[in-house]
Amino acid sequence: MAKIKIATDWLAGCAGCHMSFLDIDERIVQLLDAVEFTSSPVTDLKHPPKEGVDIGILEGAISNTHNVEVAKQMRERARFLIAVGDCATFGGVVAMRNLCGTDAALRRAYLETESVCGGVIPDSQELGKPLEMVTGVDSVVKVDLFIPGCPPRADAFFYALSELLAGRTPVVLPPELFLYD
Ligand code: SF4
Repeated sequence: MAKIKIATDWLAGCAGCHMSFLDIDERIVQLLDAVEFTSSPVTDLKHPPKEGVDIGILEGAISNTHNVEVAKQMRERARFLIAVGDCATFGGVVAMRNLCGTDAALRRAYLETESVCGGVIPDSQELGKPLEMVTGVDSVVKVDLFIPGCPPRADAFFYALSELLAGRTPVVLPPELFLYD
């Protein structure tokens, strides 16, 4: 039987959700019998292949124009899209920027922080332009499943993928998976 293809990518986040995914430990061997990881930010192939994947996983908030492009590309290439973590679900800690506004946050981070000498606000065509508001992924693309948490527990990742591999679509995760350390 053909393996289920999975691609992951990240937006504005801290990589913690990807690290938590890896915390499924030896169960990843069990998963690898049934799935093929085609791309991720930590592999040679960074973005989902043009021919598409069965499951796309996005970590991180929508914070800049580059995040929008990456989210749309994953949506176009993934039949089922999972938003993992609080940042991808509703903006998470990245959305704290909304409290003061993007310009004030950039000034504070790059010009006014006490340790900064001769700071410059980054501005390059290679970087996305910051958006006025930080949001979850579903503000720009349709999301099929949310796995909240900061980060979500490894058990939540494993549960969701196991259900999908069994042909079931989890709509709400079991309450015991919403316990956070
Ligand atoms: S939800 Fe938490 S762990 Fe995941 S990217 Fe955001 S800050 Fe990092």
